[in-house]
Amino acid sequence: MMQMLSRTSFAMAAFPSSRVRSGLSMFSDMRQLCFKRGILYGFMRLFSTPMKTLRGASRSLRIARFCSVVNMSSSLQIELIPCLKDNYAYLLHDVDTGTVGVVDPSEAVPVIDALSRKNRNLNYILNTHHHHDHTGGNVELKARYGAKVIGSGSDKARIPGIDICLNDGDKWMFAGHEVHVMDTPGHTRGHISFYFPGSGAIFTGDTLFSLSCGKLFEGSPQQMLSSLKKIMSLPDDTNIYCGHEYTLSNTKFALSIEPENQQLQSYAVQVAYLRSKGLPTIPTTLKMEKACNPFLRTSNEKIRKSLNIAATADDAVALGVIRQAKDNF
Ligand SMILES: [Zn+2]
Repeated sequence: MMQMLSRTSFAMAAFPSSRVRSGLSMFSDMRQLCFKRGILYGFMRLFSTPMKTLRGASRSLRIARFCSVVNMSSSLQIELIPCLKDNYAYLLHDVDTGTVGVVDPSEAVPVIDALSRKNRNLNYILNTHHHHDHTGGNVELKARYGAKVIGSGSDKARIPGIDICLNDGDKWMFAGHEVHVMDTPGHTRGHISFYFPGSGAIFTGDTLFSLSCGKLFEGSPQQMLSSLKKIMSLPDDTNIYCGHEYTLSNTKFALSIEPENQQLQSYAVQVAYLRSKGLPTIPTTLKMEKACNPFLRTSNEKIRKSLNIAATADDAVALGVIRQAKDNF
């Protein structure tokens, strides 16, 4: 048993962003924090892992499938860095090569602090879109570390310091990790999301939040709908790393238009608990969002009834009405 536990701890510690840690519960953030504090905490991770994952892990430990879990896992660590009032930047660290990237650095200082704590360099800056609260740290970080700035080719004029332009469907490699670039306009016209299939993680910027989507500053409801549908086509256990910690206030709007959704009710309780402890609600999972996020539930009868959307209206029309209702909430 001890051997089994320690092997599991090691596996989880070595592959923190893998699908081994998917099936997120309210304890996901705590599990991530636990990892950073060493093997001892790996036991806590084990015991706080949802049953579905536990069953998979124990099966894997007993038989050779353990190896396949390891093989499909990733050496990519993802660390959340709170920035500004409610933004998140994400530090990507490949443990094998020491390659480091940051997604959407709103500002430089918290990123520099996080890198300095671990004595790390910065190789790449990945931007989902041009807004200042996602790119504000680009120039300073690039000057300090010589990092390459990566962003949407169609929005290169608005991404400060851009070096590498990527477009929809491009596959880019981050230290051996395949990154799929997905055009996800609607919030801005040049918005992209970065999907890491090997880690089951997507960085959605201001396209998809937990329980909401971005405001439609430069796009139509139809564009946002098709962007969200692209994200919805990914595996349900995909971890969603979005640009903002808006989840608590989003629970209030979501519940106002779908008060009987039991999964939403219990998610709202978890979110309130996490925020009361100052813990992030991110990452969320696609599965959770499909069950609770009104912008992924545009055909839901009860939501439509709440907002007087005709049953015959198409999903883009419904999304537009839901977005407007949220803007005025
Ligand atoms: Zn934005």
